[in-house]
Amino acid sequence: MFTLTVLGSGSAGNCALLATDQCRLLVDAGLSARQIVVRLEQAGVRPEELDGVLLTHEHCDHAGGLEVLCRKHESLPIYCNPLTAEVMRREGNCLGKHRNWRLFQTGADFEVKDVAVQTFAVPHDAVEPVNFMFHHGRAALGYLTDLGFATKLVHERVRAATTLLIETNHDTALLNADTKRPWAVKQRITSRHGHLSNEAAAGVVATLLAGGAKLRRAVLGHLSRDCNRPELAIETMRRLGGEGVAELEILAAAQGEVSARLVVADRPEEPPAPEAASGRVGEEAPPRVARKRNDLLQLDLFGTAAA
Ligand SMILES: [Zn+2]
Ligand SMILES: [Zn+2]
Repeated sequence: MFTLTVLGSGSAGNCALLATDQCRLLVDAGLSARQIVVRLEQAGVRPEELDGVLLTHEHCDHAGGLEVLCRKHESLPIYCNPLTAEVMRREGNCLGKHRNWRLFQTGADFEVKDVAVQTFAVPHDAVEPVNFMFHHGRAALGYLTDLGFATKLVHERVRAATTLLIETNHDTALLNADTKRPWAVKQRITSRHGHLSNEAAAGVVATLLAGGAKLRRAVLGHLSRDCNRPELAIETMRRLGGEGVAELEILAAAQGEVSARLVVADRPEEPPAPEAASGRVGEEAPPRVARKRNDLLQLDLFGTAAA
């Protein structure tokens, strides 16, 4: 079983749980530590059972709960790239003393138990933002959040995903009409280092589907409280998601509550490979699964002992 549970997602905080039979990973820790623990409990997981927290970037809505969480769980592995670690260690007092950093270079592949992780750079106004593709056997989950626009690399990386979490930050019309945000902030949000709008996210899905992607489910995340609504994000995805979008399961993750446990694959060998479905077994290479273990810098670059 390979599952995704969004513990909370929106402009105020983001945190998701990825689980297989062997492995439990958090992606980002942008809720309060207390909320993370409470919501993990709702998902049936104790914090001690976590195999790590993977960080996309250092912004508070992605890493704000980490310091307090790590104060109580000193051996919790934190997976991030060196620049992100540097900022986190500088800004979070206790994180400066945290001993279990697992640093990866952006673009590296590594494994955590039975989950293979691919990392790739995204354009966003953080020190070294990354997004992820997770593989478990033949199943793949793409995780796209906090990116000003989707580069060719992004499209390529998540092509094999059957479930895709994708940021739908704002509705462009609602953002333009918003009176609370000054012009400069709106500029930042809509810039190439800001966030994906509903329309832009639908464009990504349309491109993936047109390219033959086997996407079955889109989970819309990081919705702005003021400048978006779940039904609007879903409707835009349905309208602009291109050919094949009608068959997609589309749901919006919420800020205030834990999502259902979304099954990416029942068994590692699911879903069936496209080549098997078309009767061309063995003709094509297996899906891109990161098998290199050595890209992860197990070395502790900060001079403290790594677990
Ligand atoms: Zn951000
Ligand atoms: Zn964010």
